[in-house]
Amino acid sequence: RAKCESAPGPCHYDSELDEAIRERREIANDLRRAIEHDELDVHYQVQASIATREVTGYEALLRWTHPERGAIPPSVFIPIAEENGLILSLGEWVLRRACFDAMRWDHQSRVAVNVSALQLAHADLPRLFHQVMLDSGLPPRRLEIELTETAIMANRERALHILRQIKALGVGVALDDFGTGYSSLETLRVFPFDKIKLDRFFTSELEGSPQATAIIRAVLALGKSLAIPVLAEGIETDEQLSVLIREGCDEVQGFLLGHPAPMPVTGAIGATPAADEKVGALERAA
Ligand code: C2E
Ligand code: MG
Ligand code: MG
Ligand code: MG
Repeated sequence: RAKCESAPGPCHYDSELDEAIRERREIANDLRRAIEHDELDVHYQVQASIATREVTGYEALLRWTHPERGAIPPSVFIPIAEENGLILSLGEWVLRRACFDAMRWDHQSRVAVNVSALQLAHADLPRLFHQVMLDSGLPPRRLEIELTETAIMANRERALHILRQIKALGVGVALDDFGTGYSSLETLRVFPFDKIKLDRFFTSELEGSPQATAIIRAVLALGKSLAIPVLAEGIETDEQLSVLIREGCDEVQGFLLGHPAPMPVTGAIGATPAADEKVGALERAA
């Protein structure tokens, strides 16, 4: 390392790379223990219907508070967990936790759980879902999984086979981050999705971009003709919301409606509307 400091350039680059690799390895090791040490948590972000202005469900989002490093975002630890297979136990942990939590908050709203490519490839998901439904008592129609096109791409045949089994259980399937992956239209033709989640990139471009509005309009038309509801992600401003309402979007999710937060219980957490409340931002926009 002392040698590197006196000679910048490639050597300096190598030491940074070494450092990054070492850090990833450390995070992977720590993640292995995170479940047992109770460092993981699940936060929930509200999803709401524009037509009724009511909560339809909550997306479960993993949170990790590392004892020394503090909060580590999922964008950092999920890819690491996917690299070394840890995502399988992590995924099962989130699923159980989310289903048991949903049983406590109300009797109707859905819980949406993100599922990664590796889970689709290696876990016996239909059996796992069936078991967790039995253990938690959550009716399958109250569970939805969110899959990205990237997750499906790895093995489309197998993905389709598993999705059909999951749907046969009565569990819903949403296409996450729509518009950022590959061959979106072909995916929609072949896979039996119950919902399209339009990536937050498009919402963020809405203000002052006629192109973004045009794309959203086209996706909404596509959803209508395929009879698949469209949820727009990442709504942060009233203006974005009113464009989406005007264009006929079905569902919305984003910081404007509620930040991800611990359990949505009536009156308990201001930022997370409970299922029996109207969603504030939608009431204002109406
Ligand atoms: P995602 O599934 O697309 O989740 C939505 C992400 O957007 C979340 O980030 C959420 O906090 C964030 N978000 C929601 N509304 C807004 C908004 O108005 N503005 C902005 N800027 N962001 C918003 P988060 O929690 O950091 O998660 C990032 C990604 O990590 C997720 O993207 C998902 O792909 C992955 N992830 C999180 N939890 C899990 C999990 O339990 N399992 C798996 N496989 N992946 C997960
Ligand atoms: Mg998601
Ligand atoms: Mg998403
Ligand atoms: Mg995403």
